[in-house]
Amino acid sequence: MNIRNFVIIAHIDHGKSTLADRLLEVTGTIEKRKMQEQVLDAMDLERERGITIKMQPVRMKYSANGVDYVLNLIDTPGHIDFTYEVSRSLAAVEGAILLVDATQGVQAQTVGNVSLAKKEGLVIIPVLNKIDLKEARVEDTEKEIRALLPEYSGPILRISAKTGEGVPEVLDMIVQTVPPPELAPEKPLRALIFDSKFDSFKGVIAYVRIVDGNVAEGQKIRLQASDTSLDILEAGHFIPALSRTRALASGEIGYIATGLKEPGKVRVGDTIGDAKSQNVEPLSGYTEPQPMIFASIYPEDADDFDNLKDALLKLKLNDPSLSFEIESSESLGRGFRVGFLGMLHIEIVRERLTREYNLELIFSTPSVSYRVKRSGGEIETIHAPSEIPDGHMRDWIEEPWVRLEIITPKKFLGNIMKILERISGVYTGTEYLGEDRILLSYEAPLRSIVVDFYDYLKSASEGYASMSYELIGFRQGDLERLDILVAGKKVNALSQVLEKKHAYDEGKKILEKLKELIPRQLFMVALQASIDGRIIARENIAAAAKNVTQHMYGGDRTRKMKLWKKQKEGKKRMQSEGEVDIPHDVYLKVFQK
Ligand code: GDP
Ligand code: MG
Repeated sequence: MNIRNFVIIAHIDHGKSTLADRLLEVTGTIEKRKMQEQVLDAMDLERERGITIKMQPVRMKYSANGVDYVLNLIDTPGHIDFTYEVSRSLAAVEGAILLVDATQGVQAQTVGNVSLAKKEGLVIIPVLNKIDLKEARVEDTEKEIRALLPEYSGPILRISAKTGEGVPEVLDMIVQTVPPPELAPEKPLRALIFDSKFDSFKGVIAYVRIVDGNVAEGQKIRLQASDTSLDILEAGHFIPALSRTRALASGEIGYIATGLKEPGKVRVGDTIGDAKSQNVEPLSGYTEPQPMIFASIYPEDADDFDNLKDALLKLKLNDPSLSFEIESSESLGRGFRVGFLGMLHIEIVRERLTREYNLELIFSTPSVSYRVKRSGGEIETIHAPSEIPDGHMRDWIEEPWVRLEIITPKKFLGNIMKILERISGVYTGTEYLGEDRILLSYEAPLRSIVVDFYDYLKSASEGYASMSYELIGFRQGDLERLDILVAGKKVNALSQVLEKKHAYDEGKKILEKLKELIPRQLFMVALQASIDGRIIARENIAAAAKNVTQHMYGGDRTRKMKLWKKQKEGKKRMQSEGEVDIPHDVYLKVFQK
C-alpha cells in the first residue's frame, strides 16, 4: 500500500473544508449526487454555524502515473478554541496542507498552526486559496507565506477550492512530497488513539493511527493507560462514515470499536498494545490542554444529575479538552465545575449537551480562575468570583495572564492599540510579516481577552485582524469583586472580578443589560452593583403585570405550558418573598456583546 497521511490546517474560514470537498470529488470518494458543501462538517451544529468543530478523518483512493495511493486526510477546525483538535490530528500524520486565504493573508492561527506542525516534524505544503476572488492579494500573500516558512523553497500552489482550479496539483504534490508512513508490520502492536466517540451499539469507538503491527477483529488488545483488555469488536476505515474492513495495518488511520460501555476507559493519547505483549513502549501521546475559563453546569431538574454526569463523560470522549469536577450549590443542588478553552467552546458544549443528550441545563457566568491570599491565611484557587473574600479579609488577588499575538494590516494599528490600552495590555513587540502586515505582541489579563475582546478586535480592524494567546502565569492586580444584587439579594452567579478603576462603568453596564434581560415582575425590582457591601450603581426594572410567555413568539406549546406552570408557582412564591426568577440564559448573555 502506498499510504499518505495528511491534515489540512488553516485559520478559520480559509477554506479547509471546501478543499476537502474538492479532494473527495476528484478522488471519487463521495458520489457527486451525495456531495454537499463542506460535507465533512457533518454535525448539525457545524452546518448551522458554517464552522468546523471536530476534526474529521477520511480515506481516499488516488492513482497517479499508474501508481495507486491511499490518502488519509484529516480536516481540522480553525478557531482557536479548538486548537487541541488540530494538535491531536497532527500526531497521526506525516504532512500538512497549510491553506491561506489570499484575500485575508497570513492570520494568527496560520502562524499558530505552522508552529504546531513544525513541532511534530511534518512536511508542510503551503497552498494559496480563493484565487477566484478579485480581492485576492496573491503576490503579497505569497510573500507573507515565504516569510513564515523561510526554509521552504518549493512552489506555492495557487488554487480555488470553490471552483476546483489547481486542486489536482495539490493531490500530486501530496503524493510527491509527503513521506509515506514508516511501516513496521512485524513489530508488536502499537496504535495511537487520537480521537474517540460513543456509539450506543458499538460502545466506545477509538480513532487510531496504527504505528507498529496490525490489528484485526477479535484480537485481544490492551489500552495501556487505563489497563483495560478487550476483544476488538469491529475495525475499519472512515470514508468518512465508518466502513468495516475487519483489519487495519501499520501506517493506516482507521477506527476500532471496543464494545466498552464505560466512557472513562478509552483515553485520547493512549497507546493500544497487544494484550499478550508486556512492556509496550507508549507512544508520546498528548499533553492535556489547560482550561482557560470555568463555568458551573447544573441540571435544571435535580434528578438529572446522573444523566448530566453520563453526558459529560460521553462528550469528553469526543471533546477531550473538556475537564470537570463535581461541585454543589445550596440553591442548585449537585452539578459540575467545567473547564473550557474559550467562550465559543462553552457555547458549543452547551448546544451539544442540550441537543445530543436532551438535557435542560443551567450555566453559570463563566470566569477565569483566581488565586487569593486570605489575610493571615492560605493561598486559594477560586473559580467563582462570588467566593472571593471581601477586601478586608484578603491580602491580594492574582489572575492569569496571557501572551497575546495580533496580526493586522498596518492601518488599524491605532484602533487596536486603543482597545489594548483599555484592557491594561502591556506591549512587548512588533514584527513585520510582509509590507503591510504586522504581528503585535502584548501581555494582558486573560479575563479581558477571553470573553469579548475578539469582537472588539474585529470591529477595530473591519474584520481583518486576528489573534491567538497562551497562558504565561498568574499576576497580582488592583482587583475588586463586584457583586450584583437583584431585589436586594446578591446573585452569586453574577459576581465578577475587575480592575478598581473600571468598577463603576462596568457595574453600570451590567445593570443596564440586566434591565433588558430580566423580564418585568409584578413588583418593581431594584438592581444594584456593590463592592464589599457598598452600593456603587443602581437601576430599577418597573413593575408590570405581563405574561411571561409574551416574549416567546410562536414556538412549542408544551414549553409555554411549562413556563405558565412555573410562573404560577413562581408568582406565589414571589408574592410572599419578593423574589425574582432570573431566566437561566441571563448568566451567559449578560457578558456577551
Ligand atoms: P474552513 O473554516 O477553513 O473549513 O473554511 P470553509 O471551507 O468552511 O470555507 C469558508 C468559506 O469560504 C465558505 O463560505 C466557502 O464557500 C468559502 N470558500 C472556500 N474556498 C473558496 C474559494 O476558493 N473561493 C471562494 N470564492 N470561496 C471559497
Ligand atoms: Mg472547516
